[in-house]
Amino acid sequence: MAPSLSDVPSSHDHTQPAADDARPVGFSDIPDEAPPKDACGVFGVWAPGEEVAKLTYYGLYALQHRGQEAAGMAVSDGRTVVVYKDLGLVAQVFDEPTLGAMTGHLAIGHNRYSTTGACTWENAQPSYRPAPQGGGIALGHNGNLTNTAQLAAEIGLEQRPRNGEPRATSDSDLITELLARDPDLSLEAAALRVLPKLRGAFSLVFMDEHTLYAARDPHGVRPLVLGRLERGWVVASETAALDIVGASFVREVEPGELIAIDEHGLRSQQYAEPTPKGCLFEYVYLARPDTAIAGRSVQETRVEVGRRLAKEHPVEADLVIPVPESGTPAAVGYAEASGIPYGIGLVKNAYVGRTFIQPSQTIRQLGIRLKLNPLRAAIAGKRLVVVDDSIVRGNTQRALVRMLREAGAAEVHVRISSPPVQWPCFYGIDFATRAELIANGLTVDQVCASIGADSLGYISLEQLTEATTIPGDRLCRACFDGEYPIELPTPDLLGKHMLESIERNVEDAEEAQDVMLPGVGASDALSRP
Ligand code: SF4
Repeated sequence: MAPSLSDVPSSHDHTQPAADDARPVGFSDIPDEAPPKDACGVFGVWAPGEEVAKLTYYGLYALQHRGQEAAGMAVSDGRTVVVYKDLGLVAQVFDEPTLGAMTGHLAIGHNRYSTTGACTWENAQPSYRPAPQGGGIALGHNGNLTNTAQLAAEIGLEQRPRNGEPRATSDSDLITELLARDPDLSLEAAALRVLPKLRGAFSLVFMDEHTLYAARDPHGVRPLVLGRLERGWVVASETAALDIVGASFVREVEPGELIAIDEHGLRSQQYAEPTPKGCLFEYVYLARPDTAIAGRSVQETRVEVGRRLAKEHPVEADLVIPVPESGTPAAVGYAEASGIPYGIGLVKNAYVGRTFIQPSQTIRQLGIRLKLNPLRAAIAGKRLVVVDDSIVRGNTQRALVRMLREAGAAEVHVRISSPPVQWPCFYGIDFATRAELIANGLTVDQVCASIGADSLGYISLEQLTEATTIPGDRLCRACFDGEYPIELPTPDLLGKHMLESIERNVEDAEEAQDVMLPGVGASDALSRP
């Protein structure tokens, strides 16, 4: 059955896309404040007798940092799959009456940040297709495919006229379409046929009326873990989401594994040979500090990185301060190893990224002050070590150094708990194009001069890797070293708006040749300086 969107009571009309101007204002909307963005958080639960919609809500809440553009969930009571989604944060999309109406024993949920396809209601997830045998298929995806164009060609996207109607343009929607195409196959059999065709990064949760599925790409680029409830099972992007719903950690979903959970229990099948290449940036910034990856707490790893950073880049100083909050664990480690006192020098306005109010031009010019405020009494006259997790464009650090000097800091020494980010990510993280990355083409001294610091030190790739305790050949480190572990297509077949581009070609081939949509192609991103 089709998703019964209209069955769900709500104060909003969720059968219609939300207006663009109702989108929450994030840092990307404030000039100079664009941290790396993750590609989504996924959650799934199979638990008869439990309030699965509320469990999914809290699971998504714990994963909000992984995607803040849209949120959604699908719930089944064994007869019907109901999908509810909208642009916005989890707490903005769902309310008590909505969750109360979504009853069942099986659910999946999704927080979205877009890496393929624009930020539109159609691209919010779970994506949905009616199953050819009846019923429905809903899917949530964290990651980014690298063979989207090939898959689009395979399903004949080029031949499908849009007739002016909005339609999903995400790689995730293509996966759902592929799963729902063969009337002779069960969803499980279709998954075993489709998953080996996908290239790139994907941690998936999907479902029909009866069964919850979880699958991870053979490289395990994005995390996905399995947990146990007293009366059921949970899958989630991070262990922190298991904790919040009271599930105990069982194990990671293995790279190349398909898991099915239903009334017959849990079934596991290895659909491809695993070749692990977990994302190193999850340790640096993306994952929550209270999440564990490969059995080790992310917080512990980040503190260890700080210790190693202090040894690689020591400096005479009076106070170590973090850029809250992602720089905090490494600052703790730096202070511990260096013997320099740790303190708070910056206070974060935690809710600025949560507002619906568009900042006026005057407010925008405040830039970083919207987010961080210096504690003058703590830093005046001090030689500071300022620890941050990464430098992408450099605008944030430049504004930060200036702000600290204006607040009376005697010296500002910047220490970064990741190596220079020099390459874009095609596996689910949106940094910037290569031309926008400040470390692309500039030496460390030049970056230091550009941000106006007294000194600048990045942790080395070797030390960062050692701090994770994972061997380097089992990690993706491409944004730091340019060695992409999963083959990339030609630059014209990469880019966030690639599917819009394909559709545009269908609509008006001539016009499409003249108009390059933002994000189409990645020749800039891939060409070396
Ligand atoms: S390129 Fe960087 S951010 Fe992307 S998967 Fe690899 S390590 Fe992670």
